[in-house]
Amino acid sequence: MTSVSGRPCSRVSCRSAATMTLTYIYAESRAVLGPIAMFSEPHAYDLCERHAARLTVPNGWTVERELRESQGQGPSEDDLMAIADAVREVARSHQEQPATKSSAPASQVGRRGHLRAVPS
Ligand SMILES: [Zn+2]
Repeated sequence: MTSVSGRPCSRVSCRSAATMTLTYIYAESRAVLGPIAMFSEPHAYDLCERHAARLTVPNGWTVERELRESQGQGPSEDDLMAIADAVREVARSHQEQPATKSSAPASQVGRRGHLRAVPS
């Protein structure tokens, strides 16, 4: 069984599947970020993992992040893709700075592009 709604992230340029639902409570200047809602509600926006993590709210607003109550279903493929993207971004940012953990610089492994068919 799956509870994935199939709804996309509400950010215009984003093609990721939504994993969280952001609900604005205007009367209390609160934004509540929680597990994706089963039903689309007014003032609710579906967000993917990355956009949920980068959520910003207007000045004076507070953000509440609700934790998933059940962790039984494990990460979905989209979650793994988001994690892979995040790791890639971290790796890229680390490359821009001098390495601190390892003393030896990462060696560039060249691709072998010389494979060719040898006529017999
Ligand atoms: Zn997104």
